[in-house]
Amino acid sequence: RRKWNRVVGVLKELEEGCSTPVGRLRQIVDAMVVEMHAGLASEGGSKLKMLLTFIDKLPDGNEEGTYYALDLGGTNFRVLRVQLGGKESKIMGHKVESQPIPQHLMTSTSEDLFDFIASTLKEFVEREGDDYTVQLDRRRELGFTFSFPVKQLSVSSGVLIKWTKGFSIEDLVGKDVAECLQQALTKKGLHMRVAVLVNDTVGTLAVGHYDDDDTVAAVIIGTGTNACYVEQTDAIIKCQGLLTNSGGMVVNMEWGNFWSSHLPRTSYDMDLDADSPNPNDQAFEKMISGMYLGDIVRRVILRMAQESDILGDVPPRLTVPFILSTPLMAAMHEDESSDLTEVSRILKDTFEIDDVPLKGRKVIVRVCDVVTRRAARLVAAGIVGILKKIGRDGSGGVTGGRSKSIGEPSNKVRRTVVAIEGSLYSSYNMFREYLNEAVAEILGEEVAQHVVLKVTEDGPGIGAALLAAAYSSSN
Ligand code: ADP
Repeated sequence: RRKWNRVVGVLKELEEGCSTPVGRLRQIVDAMVVEMHAGLASEGGSKLKMLLTFIDKLPDGNEEGTYYALDLGGTNFRVLRVQLGGKESKIMGHKVESQPIPQHLMTSTSEDLFDFIASTLKEFVEREGDDYTVQLDRRRELGFTFSFPVKQLSVSSGVLIKWTKGFSIEDLVGKDVAECLQQALTKKGLHMRVAVLVNDTVGTLAVGHYDDDDTVAAVIIGTGTNACYVEQTDAIIKCQGLLTNSGGMVVNMEWGNFWSSHLPRTSYDMDLDADSPNPNDQAFEKMISGMYLGDIVRRVILRMAQESDILGDVPPRLTVPFILSTPLMAAMHEDESSDLTEVSRILKDTFEIDDVPLKGRKVIVRVCDVVTRRAARLVAAGIVGILKKIGRDGSGGVTGGRSKSIGEPSNKVRRTVVAIEGSLYSSYNMFREYLNEAVAEILGEEVAQHVVLKVTEDGPGIGAALLAAAYSSSN
């Protein structure tokens, strides 16, 4: 009985450590705004890098022609072809091929990686078939989505700052990623130009804006997490004299690295960070994204097993890092059977733990809930932080006026769309519900009515193709 009390004690402590009352979320919103300002003020001014993208126009639907894209940055690698029919028909068709990135390539050399990418693309192009013909004299244009922190030099070039999400190919750090790709394509004999180099969030923003021109920001919550938004160029203090036709530029926040003392951080987060290949880095991401949530839950269950006998002797597999994936955690969380059969099955299959009593299984579901709810609410605070920074959070009064130009200053609440992509939002219902609920809670119902969170599909890839069209040499 004393032992069961320990389990309850661990749970209580977790709940307290992860608590995100709206007051705390508002502090995080404000901290996000402060860090955004600092990151825009000077290079290295904040943990938020606030990277320039040089994207100053977003696709508007007039783009025409056939464009290609490559999407590298998460679990899967995708090649795409998109046919654009202009204002009337918009996206006439697209084809996507996706494959997991071979594990060994994630830590090999840049030459191996780009040779693999170029070969995959070449095969894709060669399979274009009879139903589809390109003018042979025309050079193909490609958008490259590369979802790691890049110091952009222009829309079509940029150097890798560091790897995240388990990738580590040291010889690519500091090199121009687009140039490496271009060389590999040329080596393979592919007549194709890398027209844009973008981050996945920027691709998602492009698709969002193509569909709905009230879209001003994009958020990804998948293996990792990040966001971008349209900033006014004169607010980008660190780059004086930056001029664009629209007066705006998309800024890639790299918000996975956001840090604030207001973040509800527990000993599990600290241990996970210490055990990770990038300690002290990506603190926000480590509390939010698919790469980590399952492992936070595993660490809590391990603590419960160590402090009680509800799981018998400490099951060895509970000590294996990342053995509990986030989809499995979600499946336990969303187990609706009265006797939690799915939870039993996952505990058995994953940890080889048999016969956990029902009340123990209920505690585990509760742990999943606490960890996911915190993650979703932190994303909500981040989103409201962006809205506040650009004057779309209602703090300037609710009026509902409209304007079309990107980057135009306004304190009025206009209809505001945030494009969202990533499995945590699109496939994990509880995560999505908690996130939506928290946005409304922070903003208040009246303002929240003007804010639409819209799921895009294949945004990172299709968006890169749309941007390749918007920035193609023929445009
Ligand atoms: P990307 O790797 O490009 O970010 P996704 O957006 O699909 O791709 O995100 C993958 C991440 O989402 C993985 O970490 C995976 O564990 C997690 N994930 C996938 N499906 C689910 C799900 N149904 N519930 C919770 N997490 C999921």
